[in-house]
Amino acid sequence: MAKTKETLLEIKDLKRHFRVDRKNVLKAVDGLSFEIYQGETFGLVGESGCGKSTAGRTIMGLYQASGGEVTFKGTSVHGKRSKKALKETTRRMQMIFQDPYASLNPRMTVKDIIAEGIDIHGLAKTKKEREDRVIELLETVGLNAEHRNRYPHEFSGGQRQRIGIARALAVDPDFIVADEPISALDVSIQAQVVNLLKKLQKERGLTYLFIAHDLSMVKHISDRVGVMYLGNMVEIATSEGLYEEPLHPYTQALLSAIPMADPQVERSRERIILEGDVPSPINPPSGCPFRTRCPMAMEICSRAVPEFKEHKPDHWVACHLYGETSN
Ligand code: SF4
Repeated sequence: MAKTKETLLEIKDLKRHFRVDRKNVLKAVDGLSFEIYQGETFGLVGESGCGKSTAGRTIMGLYQASGGEVTFKGTSVHGKRSKKALKETTRRMQMIFQDPYASLNPRMTVKDIIAEGIDIHGLAKTKKEREDRVIELLETVGLNAEHRNRYPHEFSGGQRQRIGIARALAVDPDFIVADEPISALDVSIQAQVVNLLKKLQKERGLTYLFIAHDLSMVKHISDRVGVMYLGNMVEIATSEGLYEEPLHPYTQALLSAIPMADPQVERSRERIILEGDVPSPINPPSGCPFRTRCPMAMEICSRAVPEFKEHKPDHWVACHLYGETSN
């Protein structure tokens, strides 16, 4: 369950469009609205190309929003602010990337990689303090002091992700966007990184936006889960609510693709096979964006966009199967 219902981040009608050429605009994120509560892990899932990584980067302010707004602790992330205020927000919001190797400068030692944020934000007064802080961070993420003078290529994938986590923690953030942080790792290492993230959350009261392409990955770490399709949210629920009773046909299909541990249940359950590919975000379908692949599509689905509504407490869905439309 979510730890509190105190809003840390509010995302309102967020858009991030990319101009492809003179005529075409790619709507990677197109009107995303949701909240992230203090101390929770919000899992964001969807197939590749659904806009979840762009959403994460836009929420962080790494991409300028094309529309809408993000407020972090009541302050706008994209609005005009003084350099000092901007620096403070970037300190409070950090990111962990899918490919830790690509995100670590190969020519820098681990010590300098981790201390970059410490230097930028002036968090250590002396060289000794800087060094001590790096060692403490390495130990926090399960590495040790000897690792600080080595280079990224000397580490395994799991260790590099730990370095990425230490770098994010170095500036003492409140909120971390973890963009597919375990997708590139071996299955045996994935659980270790997830457990580390959970431990750090407990110790430091961190809030996570955990992005993944598959629902089984977010199941154990998330308090709530949001499912994205073609630049927008189609369902949000508590983790249990979503896995026990998925409402949106897209979520139902994603869940039906997860193998079950019990062979008897696995044999008897029905798989929903989605036909076709995700349509292009340059030219999305009219009405419900999922209608071209939806096994339950009705006549209304091609002409009216389903409203994103709270169907039952803490369970939101955008689908005409549940109530009236707004159009
Ligand atoms: Fe399927 Fe229609 Fe619901 Fe869209 S609105 S998910 S097409 S039933």
